[in-house]
Amino acid sequence: MGKFPLADEALTRVWICRKCKARNKQGSEKCRKCGSIYLRPKHKEIRVKK
Ligand SMILES: [Zn+2]
Repeated sequence: MGKFPLADEALTRVWICRKCKARNKQGSEKCRKCGSIYLRPKHKEIRVKK
């Protein structure tokens, strides 16, 4: 969980097209932009600087 719970929650609702990086709604079957079926949930983990 990040500092901003609302933003954190919003990120998990977005799926990213692996092909064109367009944002799609969670649960989308196809990319709305290019029609690709290769979508993935946006990463939720926060990268910690080392
Ligand atoms: Zn796409």
